Amino acid sequence: MKNVAVIGAGTMGNGIAHTFAQNGFKVQLIDINDANLKKGMATIESNLNRMLSKGSINEEQKEATLANIATYSNLNEGIEYASLVVEAATENIDLKCSIFKQLDEMCPEDTILATNTSSISITKIGASTSRPDKVIGMHFMNPVPIMKLVEIIRGYNTSDDTTKTIMELSEKLQKVPVEVNDYPGFVANRILMPMINESIETLYNGVAGVKEIDTVMKLGMAHPMGPLQLADFIGLDVCLSILHVMYDGFKNPKYAPCPLLVNMVQAGKLGVKSGEGFYDYSESKKAEKISKMFSS
Ligand code: NAD
Repeated sequence: MKNVAVIGAGTMGNGIAHTFAQNGFKVQLIDINDANLKKGMATIESNLNRMLSKGSINEEQKEATLANIATYSNLNEGIEYASLVVEAATENIDLKCSIFKQLDEMCPEDTILATNTSSISITKIGASTSRPDKVIGMHFMNPVPIMKLVEIIRGYNTSDDTTKTIMELSEKLQKVPVEVNDYPGFVANRILMPMINESIETLYNGVAGVKEIDTVMKLGMAHPMGPLQLADFIGLDVCLSILHVMYDGFKNPKYAPCPLLVNMVQAGKLGVKSGEGFYDYSESKKAEKISKMFSS
């Protein structure tokens, strides 16, 4: 497997493309939005420059990584030659099912179709294709070039062969794959989101302030980042949507999103991407926080 198509050049898609390309794969990066494609490539170059300045890669590796990535705005052209497609488009079930239906019609029958979804059922996405045995979750963590974990999610019909191929491939990307089954939130978000939601509830109940809650979890539990800051990085809208998926999937009130989280999302306070969440991310502060995150 040498050619990989990545769909979506946003936060995750550009990180996934970067990681494959840095490990010698030819990557076709596809996005319907040209501005996002350009922004994605600029992010990859700036992250490579940061790695170069720290000495973790050399100039030759940087150039080889960039040369391994080609960009496309047309799905049909972008997936040509790919023996694996990793979809990292916007988190929306109808959109993902429609992309997978098209991929199923366009790709040779042995092409594996992976999704980076944070919460949508792999089984449901697989059911929109005629090859559910070759549909699998490949859940990378943000920032992709740095984070070691890939949560590999088996849908109800995902085959042993597909799982083995993707587990081995993840190791070739210098990552640590962990195999899990397809239930709402998988493992990572099933545990992380209730913790984030409880931190917001703790703030909402007036038990302590934002900094105090994050400091307790950082210094007391050795978390590298407090849960409220992490929620800002993930995106408060993304956290809310994952909690909805778990609440709907389990019908258990313990996953009900805190009213403060709902209000903040309705007010457009989405965290880093909107400039404000639990913290302020005005331009200078945002650059400083992101640079700290990459140096940790
Ligand atoms: P994002 O909004 O940053 O990027 C999504 C990109 O998909 C955009 O550039 C958009 O133009 C593009 N897109 C939308 N429809 C498309 C289509 N039909 N064809 C091609 N491109 C299309 O989103 P993101 O944060 O990168 O999330 C992408 C996926 O990764 C989601 O499924 C999300 O749940 C998952 N995820 C996100 C994180 C995170 O921390 N942000 C972590 C793990 C997984």
